[in-house]
Amino acid sequence: MHLNKRILVTGGSGFIGSHLCDRLLEQGHEVLCVDNFYTGARRNIEHLLSHKHFEVLRHDVTYPLSVEVDQIYNLACPASPIHYQHDPVQTTKTIVHGAINMLGLAKRLKAKILQASTSEVYGDPTMHPQTEGYWGNVNPIGPRSCYDEGKRCAETLFFDYWRQHATRIKVARIFNTYGPRMHPNDGRVVSNFIVQALLGKDITVYGDGSQTRSFCFVSDLIDALILMMESGDDTTGPINLGNPEEISIRALAETIIELADSKSAIVSQPLPQDDPQRRMPSIAVAREKLGWEPSVQLRIGLLETVNYFRSVLFL
Ligand code: NAD
Ligand code: UDP
Ligand code: UDP
Repeated sequence: MHLNKRILVTGGSGFIGSHLCDRLLEQGHEVLCVDNFYTGARRNIEHLLSHKHFEVLRHDVTYPLSVEVDQIYNLACPASPIHYQHDPVQTTKTIVHGAINMLGLAKRLKAKILQASTSEVYGDPTMHPQTEGYWGNVNPIGPRSCYDEGKRCAETLFFDYWRQHATRIKVARIFNTYGPRMHPNDGRVVSNFIVQALLGKDITVYGDGSQTRSFCFVSDLIDALILMMESGDDTTGPINLGNPEEISIRALAETIIELADSKSAIVSQPLPQDDPQRRMPSIAVAREKLGWEPSVQLRIGLLETVNYFRSVLFL
């Protein structure tokens, strides 16, 4: 029996996608990475280019794609607010047209397809912690809407393909994830603070820093994505995947200054519009359906990420 699968990872040269490609290859699968390199980096997958089971295709998922695979992880989409707001129309097209094309592919192939959805579908939540049953509090016309509403529409498409065509869907709602291979200029809080701390620059806390997030180390997230893909067809999700340890942005800044042994000062900058005030997942469903919970403590994961950025900034 042939146990190894042919697996498509869209957005495979991005931060999460490249770690997923690594892990799938380690497990003996054949991996096809499809990416238009909008926010991804060749550096993230350079070490895989000579692997005999790895292939890269430069392609934009807003256009149809005809390949033969057994599973599809649909990750293609800029994830940092700075990047997804740079060309918001393209962001919505990538998410919505990309979902339609990948669902059409999955339907034709009868392949399993996993969507990288997001905690942003909850918007600025009025329920805490967020459970999968919560419908969210999203501004439909603000600067974050291209991403939030795009991802909500993608979830709708996934569930309509499931209802209408019995497509084998999996919807993962990913909460803030961090780790090595985040882009140094990607604008997200963990990479910003670490780069600022290592370069001795001011740490830019937006607002008063009382807003919270819950940060999951990338290796824990990859475990969860693969467990979800391998689960039975009745496990469609949505399932929250993230670390339920909540921390304020100010406390995160202080922790990173300490771990990076930095003398940087914390400065305040304006809070962006529609910035969610609190975010923390309930992971009861992931525990029950996948037997998963994160194992990497924040300080351990941050230290590994600090060491990564040290190596790329001071080559
Ligand atoms: P990333 O920006 O590092 O990676 C996204 C990848 O998608 C990049 O390689 C980019 O070049 C590619 N891409 C963008 N538009 C494309 C298009 N039209 N066609 C083909 N490829 C395209 O982001 P990431 O953090 O690795 O996020 C991956 C996925 O996970 C995204 O869908 C994101 O929405 C989701 N997600 C991430 C987080 C997080 O904290 N990192 C949280 C929630 C959800
Ligand atoms: N699609 C694709 N690859 C495939 C099959 C379909 O990219 O192997 C695209 C197709 O071009 C279409 C989308 O997926 O735009 C949705 O396909 P579906 O069959 O659901 O709908 P239809 O083709 O009837 O619009
Ligand atoms: N943030 C910050 N300083 C920065 C970057 C981000 O204070 O340099 C804050 C941002 O306002 C938000 C939180 O950190 O409250 C997380 O931001 P990020 O862009 O990483 O992700 P989000 O969860 O908002 O999508």
